[in-house]
Amino acid sequence: MEKQTLSFQAEVKQILHLVTHSLYSNKEIFLRELVSNASDACDKLRFEALDNAALYEDTPNLEVRVWYDAAAKTITIRDNGIGMSADEAVAHLGTIAKSGTRDFMAKLQGEQKKDANLIGQFGVGFYSGFIVADRITVESRRAGHPAADGVRWSSEGTGDFEVETISRLERGTDVILHLREGEEEFLSPWKLKSVISKYSDHISLPILMRKQKWDEEKKEQVDTDEWETVNKAAALWTRAKSDITDAQYQEFYKQISYDQDAPLAYTHNRVEGRTEYTQLLYVPAKAPFDLWNRDKRGGVKLYVKRVFIMDDAEALMPVYLRFVKGVIDSADLPLNVSRELLQESRDVKAIREGSTKRVLSMLEDVAENQRDKYADFWRQFGAVLKEGVGEDHQNQERLAKLLRFASTAADEGVSLEDYVKRMKDGQEAIYVLTADNLATAKSSPQLEIFRKKGIEVLLLTDRVDEWMLSHLFEFDGKPLQSVAKGGVDLGKLQDEAEKKQAEETAEAFKPVLEKLKAALKDRAKDVRTTTRLVDSPACIVVDEGDMSSHLARLLKQSGQSAPGIGGSKPILEVNPEHALVKRLDSDARFDDLAQILFDQALLAEGGQLEDPAAYVARVNRLLAA
Ligand code: ADP
Ligand code: MG
Repeated sequence: MEKQTLSFQAEVKQILHLVTHSLYSNKEIFLRELVSNASDACDKLRFEALDNAALYEDTPNLEVRVWYDAAAKTITIRDNGIGMSADEAVAHLGTIAKSGTRDFMAKLQGEQKKDANLIGQFGVGFYSGFIVADRITVESRRAGHPAADGVRWSSEGTGDFEVETISRLERGTDVILHLREGEEEFLSPWKLKSVISKYSDHISLPILMRKQKWDEEKKEQVDTDEWETVNKAAALWTRAKSDITDAQYQEFYKQISYDQDAPLAYTHNRVEGRTEYTQLLYVPAKAPFDLWNRDKRGGVKLYVKRVFIMDDAEALMPVYLRFVKGVIDSADLPLNVSRELLQESRDVKAIREGSTKRVLSMLEDVAENQRDKYADFWRQFGAVLKEGVGEDHQNQERLAKLLRFASTAADEGVSLEDYVKRMKDGQEAIYVLTADNLATAKSSPQLEIFRKKGIEVLLLTDRVDEWMLSHLFEFDGKPLQSVAKGGVDLGKLQDEAEKKQAEETAEAFKPVLEKLKAALKDRAKDVRTTTRLVDSPACIVVDEGDMSSHLARLLKQSGQSAPGIGGSKPILEVNPEHALVKRLDSDARFDDLAQILFDQALLAEGGQLEDPAAYVARVNRLLAA
């Protein structure tokens, strides 16, 4: 290929601009990113060579070398991994924007402190080289390709880049950074070594630098031709727990997660038995930007006997634990295992079950011993964990204990165990109310009788709650009961006199109810009296078997049609003790009042009126009268 000048893709240009103009702190991470790419390239070679050992040519020992040239002001990172063909260099280093690109830019534009650390998280690490370099040259030859098939890629990191074919004997890639004015601090063996050991100690390949020796004449350290390994080159998880410090666990976490915050908790175990594996799993302190994407692959890397197999092996963790990061290293799986095979493997199933239990124990431990920390965890990941209640029946009980809610007694942090402990004498059910948000939930008319009697009600406001409730029927032998479904049956909490009184009132009210039913026949399935209301005139409930109106609303918002939406109508319950309801019968404006009663009940539970203008007109008629 003749030398060609090609343009970066528009999004890549934007990234480059942001990278070179706005990342000030943690510049040194460029080295981590480039070493990590070198290490990935070696992993890829090892993987492809499983089927084709010839790819190793005559250099089977994979390694990374880092050196600098003080006169030329360059730093070179060399690997003998898979390398790139000319087409690959063009595609991977400039014309195809990665999927994380947009998210990265959004994050960077919003971020106050422009921390270069962010960059690797979004899969655009290569460009971090331009933080310190005003030109990057990449020379590469793909494993298995002839020497004449080498490629040189070069760019100043602005609008375009050049590519040409070169002849290159060495397999793999050299990345040569031409340092910007002012970045000379990196032209030092001491500096480079310290950055490598800070970020890349656990890279399982040797990272080599030139050995130094004291020069008597020059009175300084000078490079020799001998190379030495400057990282520990032992994968952290393979070392004994007792040899690893907390700081090392934390650094490793940063490396695999690109998270700037320390993890909330971690667990490291060697599991022996029918399947043998090592797991090192972390729970992050903060939710990632894409937590809500259920298709996102998990954060657990799979190794087999210390050989990296794949990132994001989703088969290793249930979907509801997709926030867990870490490494699982199996002693039994075949090295050429594919994603498809993983899904079916019995060993993988055992690993997933074992790892799930470990994560749950870790969370139980935090919940029990560090309540504040658990509260933080819950705010970040609680809604995701709730998915597990429906997905993981085997662990449903353990998950139920980990759940935390708001209730009429506290705005957050109420566990089902707390609730059960506080249940009143004679209370048989755990009462719950779902709503769009806490404010709506708290002011819901449905709570009035529970408040009056001092009975706690759990207030559920996450989107996933309705779904969770359709899987969680009971806790500790007590059924979960929605206060907005069916009639209120407070069971033993209501005394005989109250029940009798209610029946008599209902009987006396029958004629009014018939009139209301007629007036609201298009909107309500039924109209009945209730004892659940204290201060409000009316409320809306649904039949025991029907979908709650909150769920119907959620589905409608998400554009889904569901049986019952629009089909089954709600029930209007009226409070016969309320002044407005009492005088309904004798009021000439009966029809308007009936409609308003229904509209207001709908509004009070966070619903939307189908015809707001009609509501306003009715209210105005009353006000003007
Ligand atoms: P990521 O590593 O997350 O894929 P990068 O921006 O760091 O993103 O790298 C972009 C791509 O460039 C890599 O996915 C890889 O295809 C290619 N690449 C970068 N460095 C090397 C290297 N040393 N050897 C082979 N390919 C490389
Ligand atoms: Mg990378």
